[in-house]
Parts: sequence; C-alpha cells; structure tokens
Amino acid sequence: MKVLVINCGSSSVKYQLIDSETELSLAKGMVARIGMSASVLTHKPHDRPEVIVSGEILDHIVAIEYVIAILTSENHGVIKDRSEIGAVGHRVVHGGEKFSASVLIDDAVMQELRSLIELAPLHNPHNIRGINACQKTLDNVPMVAVFDTAFHHQMPPHAYIYGIPYVLYRRYGIRRYGFHGTSHHYVAERAVEMLGKPLEELKLITAHLGNGASIAAIDHGKSVDTSMGFTPLEGLLMGTRSGDLDPAIILHVMAREELSLHEANTLMNKHSGLSGISGVSSDMQEIVKEAETNPNAKLALDIYCYRLKKYIASYIGAMNGADALIFTAGIGENSDTVRRLACENLDFLGIKLDEDKNRRALAVEADISAADTRIKTLVIPTNEELVIARDTVELVVE
Ligand code: ADP
Repeated sequence: MKVLVINCGSSSVKYQLIDSETELSLAKGMVARIGMSASVLTHKPHDRPEVIVSGEILDHIVAIEYVIAILTSENHGVIKDRSEIGAVGHRVVHGGEKFSASVLIDDAVMQELRSLIELAPLHNPHNIRGINACQKTLDNVPMVAVFDTAFHHQMPPHAYIYGIPYVLYRRYGIRRYGFHGTSHHYVAERAVEMLGKPLEELKLITAHLGNGASIAAIDHGKSVDTSMGFTPLEGLLMGTRSGDLDPAIILHVMAREELSLHEANTLMNKHSGLSGISGVSSDMQEIVKEAETNPNAKLALDIYCYRLKKYIASYIGAMNGADALIFTAGIGENSDTVRRLACENLDFLGIKLDEDKNRRALAVEADISAADTRIKTLVIPTNEELVIARDTVELVVE
C-alpha cells in the first residue's frame, strides 16, 4: 500500500509518500508560505532531482491539491493517479489524555481532536486543517492520526503532575504530556537491534535534538519521563524556545514590558533559545561555527549542552542506571560538537565517547562509545514518517 504521510504546520505542509511493502520513501517534500506571498512547493522524488514549484497557495486545501498534482505529474510524479494512495497518516501533535495510541479518523475522533485545541492552540488547529484538506481532496481514503504525545501516555503521575494545585489538573488537564513520541519510540526500537537485547530489558535515554528538542527516559520499553511538558516549550533549550524557565520571569517581563499574552507567548516560543541568547541564529550549525569567534554564540552553545548534560544525568538517576544514550534528529545525528560537550565529564556515571567514532558519525547509525564504558552512546537517525506509515497501515488493514 502507498501511504501519504502529512505533517501540517500553520503555513506549511510536509509530506512523504511511502510504499509500505518496501518501506521505501517514493517522494518527499514541503509546501511553504501557505497563505503568504511567494508560496513554494519543494518536491523530491526518490529517483530524480528536486524540483521547486511556486504558485498562489492560499490555504491548506490548495496545498494538498498541489501535493497530489505533483505526486501524479508526468515528469516529477511517482504514481499514475491519486487512487494509488491507499491511506493517509497524519502527524497530530497533541492527543491529550484520551489518545494512548494511533487511531483511525472518523467523525467522533475529529470531535475529540477539536476539543483538544484548548490544550495545543499553536499546533492542533493546523493538524486538523490538514486532515480536513485531505478529506476534501482524497475522498473515501482512510486516514489515521498518529500522536506526538501517545508514547508518553504511560508516564507515572509523579513524573507528569506539576507542583501547582492539583485541582488545575482535574479542571484543565494541566500536566506534563511530552512530545516527539514517534521519534523516541522509533530510535528505541532501533537501539534494540543495535544492542541485541529486547526493549523490555533495556533502560534507554533518547535525545531528540532538532529545532524542537526533547529527551526521554525509557525504562523497559515505557517512557517514564520526558523533558517537554504541558506544551512543547518546557525542557531543553531549543532553536527559538526557552525550555525550562522560572515561571515568575514571564509575569515580571509581561509587567515591565507591558506585553500581551500573545506577545509573551511569542517571546518564549519564537525569540528565545539559541536565537535569543546568541542574537545570531536558531540554527545549531551556524551557532557551532560562530561560537569560535562570537562569545554570545559560544554561550548559547554552552547553555544548550550543559542543560542536556543535566537531563542525561538526572534520567540515569530516575531509572537507577541506563544501558544506552541515543542521539537523534538534525543536531543529534550531525553535531559531534554537541554530543561531545553534552557527554563531557559524565564518565563517572558510565558515559564516555570515542572521539574518533563521534567525529565520524554523521547521519548514520553508529556506536560512538569508548570501549570501556558502562552506558553505550548511539547515534540513530530518526524516521517519524516511517512510524506514521506503519501505524497507518496497521489500522487500515485491520
Ligand atoms: P526539525 O525539528 O525542524 O525537524 P531537524 O531535525 O532537521 O529539525 O534539525 C534541525 C537542526 O539540526 C538545526 O539546528 C540544524 O542546524 C541542525 N543541524 C543539521 N546539520 C547539522 C550539523 N552538521 N551540525 C550541527 N547542527 C546541524
């Protein structure tokens, strides 16, 4: 079956068409600047060069039409017509307490998803828009929602309840949910292959370091703690997000700078993190380069790695040990500098890198630990789209 995997943002649609039998990605791409001037579709078939198409893409429905058109086009397409698409898998950021696993989308599920907008106003509305757009364009094709939160569903209350009045959890569902679940789960499963032990016998720490970043403690196959919380803002420092913060700071800055709720939200989500500290960039590759000459970029890099190290150490404590630490996503897969700095001086806890192996590991599965370590350190490229496609097929063919 050919599965179209869709990940909708406010002004973007990322897609990938996966052949579920071979697990080959036939084509992938992204529509950017939806609803703005100069919208653009970037499309890469697996066997031909990338193409870029510009157009007037006013909304997500038009964006999905563009995607289908290019997937079926004579020159750049990978299927003859849209009837070859057997199912669509949607990445949905927030599944709340309701969804502990992926689910076949029907009217009742759509209603639940709408009720979750309150918990994830920055993310879920766009995911819903993407589902609606696909339903309009691909009539009668079964669709599945795969949640970022689902893998963390079994976290124990002592990890997910905040130190505020308990009634707020009851009333508004304020608790830690965790995100990037498909990625944490995928790399944990790959680690099983690399370590030659079943998931039920392993204690793993998985660090997903992309533009957003989170780390998870996975004890015997279950996520028992993770750094993102009620929203994807908490935890590690990120490209433009602050991560952990004294909440009183927000109230203080809102009062001093006379910020609205929206402005305060934007400050923490869009103008903080690597970008806010360095004043240079939210992009780790640039930060690492600039850090050689620019003290603020160096500070941003140091804060990033220091916080990561603290989380790694605390999760070893949370699980009473660990068998492996796994780095994934753009930064985790590619930045030997971040991996080196985050693991520095953790040898007393059993983590030590082999410098050469670390330097050589670029976007490939690799064991980068020194020979004499108790805890293995692995680099594992993530593949969230494949997890979404697998879950989709499983639910559709049931
Ligand atoms: P997203 O969360 O948007 O999917 P990615 O997983 O693609 O993001 O990660 C993007 C991040 O990965 C950026 O900060 C980028 O600079 C970083 N990155 C990619 N390659 C490298 C590299 N060679 N060295 C350092 N950082 C890198």
